[in-house]
Amino acid sequence: MKKAKILLFFLTALLLTGVLVFFCHASADSSAPALTETIPFEVTTAEDTVVTVEKPEYEDLSSRFLTMEKVVVEAFPESMVTALSNNFSRVYATLAEYFNYGVMYDIVYTIDEQTSAAYQTGGRNDLEKKIAMNASYFRTNRNDLGALTHELTHAMQSYKDSKYGAANSANGGSWLTEGVADFGRYTFDLSSFSLPNYSADQKYTDSYRVTARFFLWLNQNVDSTFLEQFNEGLKCEAYTAQLFVKITGKTVDELWQMYAESDHVIR
Ligand SMILES: [Zn+2]
Repeated sequence: MKKAKILLFFLTALLLTGVLVFFCHASADSSAPALTETIPFEVTTAEDTVVTVEKPEYEDLSSRFLTMEKVVVEAFPESMVTALSNNFSRVYATLAEYFNYGVMYDIVYTIDEQTSAAYQTGGRNDLEKKIAMNASYFRTNRNDLGALTHELTHAMQSYKDSKYGAANSANGGSWLTEGVADFGRYTFDLSSFSLPNYSADQKYTDSYRVTARFFLWLNQNVDSTFLEQFNEGLKCEAYTAQLFVKITGKTVDELWQMYAESDHVIR
């Protein structure tokens, strides 16, 4: 029985590696898989002008892919635990499809009161990712549960070089990962999350929401598959600024200039 379990583990690990290698090679001869952009929610305006949210039918993915450690269940009221579980089920498949070829890892939620809000880190093996959250923060900032969608996006990234961009970043090389994670949260999470309007003192390396808004603008005005290609590029090779040129034909500075000179509108 134990042997069978170990064998199953290695076969699954092999399969996941195979999927990533396959797609990276597929992208090299520019036959990247068609990824579907699915927005999991529709906001509709009812006749009495009250905005209602139509909940889609979704599978309870949390029962299959999410483990909440006992400390998490004990740290929150039951309604909050349910909200965590529902939020996971709602966004996880979409994030996996958009950012990770549909490959889903086992996710473990745990508590770390030392962190300001939440962070993602490796799990006990290649098939698992862990997300730690500050329970006190989320008890008082319940409307910020979307921060976990940001962390779940991180869990889907697995980029080739964690130090990429360090040479031209004021944020220790993390502006790309953080920008992509906030893009994931903004695009696929229902809860309200705003991206700051463009202002002349911003830089694309400002990270988080500023970078996310730039990526969104690129998707809407330059190439609707920009972010998918960018995410895939970061998975397949160590980042160089050439990646922007490869996808759009323009340097990142030229693209930022275009953004700066535009009306900056995002939809
Ligand atoms: Zn982050």
